[in-house]
Amino acid sequence: MSDRKKPPVVGRFAPTPSARLHLGNLMCALLAWLSAKSRGGEILLRVEDLDAARCPYMGENTKYMLDDLAWLGLEFDGEVLYQSKRSDIYRSYFEQLEERGLIYPCYCSRAELHATTAPHLSDNTPIYDRRCLLRAERGEMPPEGRRPAWRVKVPDGEISVFDGLQGEYRENLLRDCSDFVVRRADGVFAYQLAVVVDDALSGVTEVVRGNDLLFSTPRQIYLQKTLGLATPNYYHIPLLTDAAGRRLSKRDGDGCMESVRAKYKNAAPVLGALAAALGLLPKPEAVTLPDLLSLFAWEKLPRDAIKLPEGF
Ligand SMILES: [Zn+2]
Repeated sequence: MSDRKKPPVVGRFAPTPSARLHLGNLMCALLAWLSAKSRGGEILLRVEDLDAARCPYMGENTKYMLDDLAWLGLEFDGEVLYQSKRSDIYRSYFEQLEERGLIYPCYCSRAELHATTAPHLSDNTPIYDRRCLLRAERGEMPPEGRRPAWRVKVPDGEISVFDGLQGEYRENLLRDCSDFVVRRADGVFAYQLAVVVDDALSGVTEVVRGNDLLFSTPRQIYLQKTLGLATPNYYHIPLLTDAAGRRLSKRDGDGCMESVRAKYKNAAPVLGALAAALGLLPKPEAVTLPDLLSLFAWEKLPRDAIKLPEGF
């Protein structure tokens, strides 16, 4: 690493292969790629397959994903990272939190959590009432025969995200989220921990991803600060919709790469449609990735909804 010139930007695309990619994922990959490459940076690919045991199709979906990205012409720097192979790394950071007394076991079932805690303001995660922490402080024994999840204690204070597209987003972690899970009861390390560790160890300086993840960013910034890891720049992208502003329906296969590739012989018109949706082209026309590199600028992007062109 030391003898290599440090790139000005290191971006990443980090999909979860729980299904075949759809146009919304591809838009995200394209933006992350354009943002890094238009400034002479690098772009990494990470497969977020932590749930491989629970989702048996992840291996197959990953093959399709790599093929779909190649079809679009997106090339990535360095080796592809697989989260499923990195448990030992996550464990070492988990143990740091443990040694510092920042985590505690939570024996609550999903049903218990949803029955008695308030929903998270933004993303439907229940706001935890710390009952397992309070029980332990009272010296009560944990229930027998149940494996705990592990939660990290959060402070009563605001955390701000400065997002390149969405502006400032603030959350009081204790009030708006409360202590969150860093390791699940089945032993799998939680997304929040894995993503923070991976981005930092890969030297990622810029995170481009869907707007639905804006609400978990304060949790990730808290983990970064606590573990002494750098905070990247963030761009959270609005949802991709059809021309009428309707969410692309997974059930109807709208925007699924299988149907997109059945309809279009090559990627040029697909890139053109995405570029028009992103405000990089006045109307959809066949384009190449090098064309888009010179057209790309974050300032051109719509801030609310990104709509595919009529008839696409
Ligand atoms: Zn609990």
